[in-house]
Amino acid sequence: MKEFIFEGSKDAILATDLKGIISYCNPSACELLGYSEEELLGSNYNLLTSESDNISFTQAKDYILFNQELQPHPSSVKTKQGKLETVIVQYSAVKDNAGNLLGLSAFLRKPNLFEKTASNAQALLETAPDSMIIVNDKGQIVFTNYQTENMFGYTSQELLGNKIEILIPDEYKNHIGHRDKYIENHRPRSMGQGSELFAKAKSGKKIPVEISLSPLETKDGLFVSAAIRDITDRKKIENRLATSNQELQVKNKDLEQFAFISSHDLQEPLKTVMGFVPLLKKEYSDVIDENGKMYINFIEEAVSRMSESVNSLLEYSRIGRNAEAGLINTNELVKNVLKDLGGRIDDSSAKIKVDDLPKIIGFETEIRLVFQNLLTNAMKFMEKDITANISISCNKTREFFEFIVKDNGIGIKEQFKEKIFVIFQRLHNRKNYSGSGIGLAHCRKIVELHGGKIWVESEEGKGSSFKFTIPRK
Ligand code: ADP
Repeated sequence: MKEFIFEGSKDAILATDLKGIISYCNPSACELLGYSEEELLGSNYNLLTSESDNISFTQAKDYILFNQELQPHPSSVKTKQGKLETVIVQYSAVKDNAGNLLGLSAFLRKPNLFEKTASNAQALLETAPDSMIIVNDKGQIVFTNYQTENMFGYTSQELLGNKIEILIPDEYKNHIGHRDKYIENHRPRSMGQGSELFAKAKSGKKIPVEISLSPLETKDGLFVSAAIRDITDRKKIENRLATSNQELQVKNKDLEQFAFISSHDLQEPLKTVMGFVPLLKKEYSDVIDENGKMYINFIEEAVSRMSESVNSLLEYSRIGRNAEAGLINTNELVKNVLKDLGGRIDDSSAKIKVDDLPKIIGFETEIRLVFQNLLTNAMKFMEKDITANISISCNKTREFFEFIVKDNGIGIKEQFKEKIFVIFQRLHNRKNYSGSGIGLAHCRKIVELHGGKIWVESEEGKGSSFKFTIPRK
């Protein structure tokens, strides 16, 4: 009767002696594996196992020898055709009446839908790009994936059953306390927010890592899964970026210093030329003919333009030097700028509307210069015979104040919207619109000094909105 039960079972059943030699197989086993009974009997069970098995036959035998229970678990067997069949396998001890271990039996069956999903989930964990480790509520490692072996240099077997602290550098002595606290008050979160985290490889090497923790409540108790990402490469890039940034800052300072010194030194010879040209005109007027006088006028104009440029360059390189940040009431500040520009506003009969503006933290003289430049431009770059309508407003976001100076002037072509912020770049000749092309370069330097951005939105012929942000913190 017993024999018929085994023989008729849909499960594949095999039995081996302690050396793994197959001593019994039922028809379902032959069907599943593709071997005949004669081929299986007397063969070693290793014939059917694959290297990817998470518990090998020898390990199963050892577990059972030490009276440990082995739960049914997903595994695979190799058929005669070399195909790997996914199965749920349960190994059990075969004992005689006196309790002596004679061998092992293996019940193999195809996984049901739920088990397939579970093994898919495990396969997902296996192929995850991060090291995935699951620990129980005592901090013992119960699962590791392939990437864990790769990252830490331990095999899964070396890690399973060990405390998680095996992967934590010695200086984090407090980890056990943190672990217990997490178990008590568990929720998904990343670990060590704001601080640098390191894990320890088998070689003792410290690996910079990012860790996310998720609790897994199961009917067998609480488990915690940790996704550990090796951020060595990212750290290298961050360090390289920080170094380049520092180098850039030093180079920028050097450049500013250079502009400052050269423009300062250029002023001296310029002053000399500017001093002698009028003398030449006055004292030698009777010896210089009309052509000569015209040339001298050209020289005078050119020198005066050069002096303007040198002065602008000097001012540009001075921006931010010795500036001290403070609280600025931009309502007051804009009111004062308008007062200073009073004459010019009257001449152009511009209408200027100012919304309620906020208090900001910044460099007052510099911010004043920004409004002064933007307002002067808004009045200047107008079609003749059109009344300038200018508005100043501010939008608030969580991080920034965004100021807007809007006009109904000549507007700017799309392709020039970047160029106008570059020092000495102008779009018009001086006869039509006066200027030196430094105002917006000043504005950009000042806004960036505050950690903000400046840009223009414009439609040619309709007007422009110059916008700049100042961080709120
Ligand atoms: P400047 O005003 O001395 O020429 P800026 O740096 O202030 O120098 O401006 C650079 C150029 O940008 C100007 O020459 C002009 O062509 C353009 N621009 C600036 N503001 C406006 C504006 N509100 N409307 C149209 N074009 C403008």
